[in-house]
Amino acid sequence: MQTIRSTGALVRWRRSLQQEGVTIGLVPTMGALHAGHLSLIRKARLACDAVLVSVFVNPRQFAHGEDFSRYPRQLQADAACCRREGVDVLFAPTIETVYPVGFETFVVVEDLSRRWEGPLRPTHFGGVTTIMTKLLTLTQPDFAFFGQKDYQQTMIVKRLVADLNFDTRVIMCPTIREQDGLAMSSRNEYLSPAGRRAAPILYAALQAGRRAVEGGVSTAGRIRAVMHRVIRKEPLVKVDYLAACDRRTLNPVGRITKPVVLLGAIRIQEVRLIDNVLASPSGRRNLR
Ligand code: AMP
Repeated sequence: MQTIRSTGALVRWRRSLQQEGVTIGLVPTMGALHAGHLSLIRKARLACDAVLVSVFVNPRQFAHGEDFSRYPRQLQADAACCRREGVDVLFAPTIETVYPVGFETFVVVEDLSRRWEGPLRPTHFGGVTTIMTKLLTLTQPDFAFFGQKDYQQTMIVKRLVADLNFDTRVIMCPTIREQDGLAMSSRNEYLSPAGRRAAPILYAALQAGRRAVEGGVSTAGRIRAVMHRVIRKEPLVKVDYLAACDRRTLNPVGRITKPVVLLGAIRIQEVRLIDNVLASPSGRRNLR
């Protein structure tokens, strides 16, 4: 495995592969790799000739006062992990490489970024779409792999790719969970023991919502009530939002007449957790 730190070397690597007609798969991450990331890397390994993993804790997607400085960083362990998974290139640039002096461009997907996480994490999605524009431009991948865990982010990246005509297929991969249902996340390690015990309640609430949708409850208000009832069992948890939304636009729906995504975000002792499940009113399709 090759570790690349500069954009020039990355472009040279990409050009040499393109000349040979090799397909490239990109897995963008902020590092501290866990089984969720590995599932994306394995999908990429199966689907593409060459796999590129980027590890970059992107300061522009953290708002002031968020956890940028304490976000876990473990490049050596991540590199070992990528090597074991047969990754071809690890792109691990410095902040100065990505944002050299004078950098002043910001790429925003307007409407989708204003929803759910948007108002709670100002500038977050603009930071994501700016770094993604750079990564897609530099690497021109045939496929890019994202987790359903960050459903809104993945839909925003799909919009970005369509709007700016990137020749890349965005693949959304299923959420990987701990045994008790908690979605794996690098931020789970911020949880106290009591917080960790409370955390699976988010998935439990979303599952209850999904069962209600599949059982024929068709008003979003009632679905939300079902989810809130479950969450209330955990006094440590504060809800940011629990919502039934159109899967593509992420607009909240009133009546559930077609498949929806149930989005949830909670705080446990100031640690924010997000999760989601897909739910279909027919109940016949086995959707996550
Ligand atoms: P991050 O390093 O948190 O920016 O995540 C990098 C990529 O891994 C994103 O596309 C995430 O959606 C994805 N990811 C993170 N956690 C999980 C998980 N538990 N299951 C599946 N994908 C995940």
